[in-house]
Amino acid sequence: MLKNDQLDAWDRENFFHPSTHLADFARGDLPSRIITGGSGCHIEDRDGNRLLDAFAGLYCVNVGYGRQEIAEAIADQARELAYYHAYVGHGTEASITLAKMVLDRAPAHMSKVYFGLSGSDANETNIKLVWYYNNILGRPEKKKIISRWRGYHGSGLMTGSLTGLELFHKKFDLPLAQVLHTEAPYYYRRADVDQSEADFVAHCVAELEALIEREGADTIAAFIGEPALGTGGLVPPPDGYWPAIQEVLDRHDILLIADEVVTGFGRLGSMFGSDHYGMRPDIITIAKGLTSAYAPLSGSIIGDKVWKVLEQGTDENGPIGHGWTYSAHPIGAAAGVANLKLIDSLGLIDNARDVGAYFKSALQAAVGEHAHVGEVRGEGLLCAVEFVEDREKRQFFDPSRKIGPKVNEALLKHSVISRAMPQGDILGFAPPFCLTHAEADEVAGKLAHAVKDVLG
Ligand code: PMP
Repeated sequence: MLKNDQLDAWDRENFFHPSTHLADFARGDLPSRIITGGSGCHIEDRDGNRLLDAFAGLYCVNVGYGRQEIAEAIADQARELAYYHAYVGHGTEASITLAKMVLDRAPAHMSKVYFGLSGSDANETNIKLVWYYNNILGRPEKKKIISRWRGYHGSGLMTGSLTGLELFHKKFDLPLAQVLHTEAPYYYRRADVDQSEADFVAHCVAELEALIEREGADTIAAFIGEPALGTGGLVPPPDGYWPAIQEVLDRHDILLIADEVVTGFGRLGSMFGSDHYGMRPDIITIAKGLTSAYAPLSGSIIGDKVWKVLEQGTDENGPIGHGWTYSAHPIGAAAGVANLKLIDSLGLIDNARDVGAYFKSALQAAVGEHAHVGEVRGEGLLCAVEFVEDREKRQFFDPSRKIGPKVNEALLKHSVISRAMPQGDILGFAPPFCLTHAEADEVAGKLAHAVKDVLG
């Protein structure tokens, strides 16, 4: 075992941490946080602290930490066959079984699943397939992709462009030209405070229609959206939003990509967010919850309509020119099979729904009436608390005051992990699906203390 100060030194000298303030880290203003173990909803750090992880890593360890069934499945697969590729018709029992299990759970009109490694690469795949689709259909101009402000779809070149958050564009020369952004369905942050929810939905739809009109429907290939906004603020859509958007997309022959990296496999208390909100996607992106992050694996679930054209394309052009070395990696696939079995056998989606509803009311009871809490919101086990300077006027804090990050830090001092979302003073909660009522109460009670510590 390395000594703590040796690990700290190596960490600062060698490790480029993602999504980190690099200069603060180098100076030592940001501590090294070294995690050593986990069980259920808790993780442990090297100093022996036991923390309740109310964000499930990066909302991905859905079945909770320390699941031996998944660890065994990974070990068995590694011993038997750690790797073989999936090109030119190759596969393994694990990858074929997982594809079947995913399709059995997906909406009815879904046809095939392509496996990648991360949510970002799955969305890169999706956009390439949408372009290929329109080229095969003889519509080379129909290529632009519409995303929403505050959407999160990854941090690659195309996916970082689709992501509608300033931090991911600034100084990276993004977004790329083929990407357009439209209004986010974020009712609490609507421009007109007097607008009803129904009028706000009509406004989002009108914005989309106007964008399509301006650009020309024959130049727009697809619309991508998370069923409920994730990293952009953890916001369930207003009632009727998705059916109204779907109607516009259908009318203009624009494909819908549902990015279910966070919502897929149960986080909203339903198998897929698409079912939950009445979306009819042509492609669904999956990642995190597919393996509960026990191994990296993502997927693009392709609907019938797109699949038929892809097949036709290969008849005309030869094999599809798309694939990663690690597509359908057997170890990831074995983890996925064990993970989905565990979700079923423990009834974890029902728990996400029931304990999720309880958790949201506990958060509401703990901090909902605080003078600086503007909104407590959520669906299933995806919840958020949004802080405001003035609740009546719905006036937001100056971002330089870093209220969200400060409450997040204060909560950590009470041994609970939440996440300060990157844009706005929004504290996110997305615990593992095995959260108990007692743990829900503990998070809510400690949040009340943390809010008091920072905001009085
Ligand atoms: N889509 C959504 C909705 C996500 O939340 C994320 C990751 N948070 C991604 C895509 C990208 O996934 P990854 O970080 O695995 O590339």
